[in-house]
Amino acid sequence: MHNPTDDEWIARAIALAVAEKGTDPANTPIAALIVRDGKLIAQGVNRTTEQCDATAHAEVEALRAAGKAVGDMQIKDATLYSTLQPCGMCTMASIWAGVGRIVFGAGRDDVHKMYFEDRHLDTVDFIRDAFKDDLSLEGGVKAHDCAQLYYGPDDNVPQDKQANT
Ligand SMILES: [Zn+2]
Repeated sequence: MHNPTDDEWIARAIALAVAEKGTDPANTPIAALIVRDGKLIAQGVNRTTEQCDATAHAEVEALRAAGKAVGDMQIKDATLYSTLQPCGMCTMASIWAGVGRIVFGAGRDDVHKMYFEDRHLDTVDFIRDAFKDDLSLEGGVKAHDCAQLYYGPDDNVPQDKQANT
């Protein structure tokens, strides 16, 4: 049986983002998948606006669904796929869930800075360094296709659409 590649999982995540949220960056079409042993365990899309919940990022939604699906808060040896580089909260949540590997599409340099909590240090770099024995992070899979879904680094984003800056 053919085991889907990282490219194919990210393509699926893109398709999910578009199916659930469309292609307008204003609707934050971010999607995440949790995969283990070549099988999709759970998926999620960003629901922060709909649920009035700042923690309802696609990755957290997927982790919650995966926990329910496997009946365990730990989803050991799973891979989390996301269309956009996970933020510090979602990276940390993955570590709490025992997810050993994160693969993402667009990285923070491919999109507008509103998507990341950059300050004088970057939490993603901090977490990546602190937990380098527990988590591998790989980016840039179908980065261009993923970045098309989001505001670009130089886009003039209306202030009321910016969550983070
Ligand atoms: Zn996040």
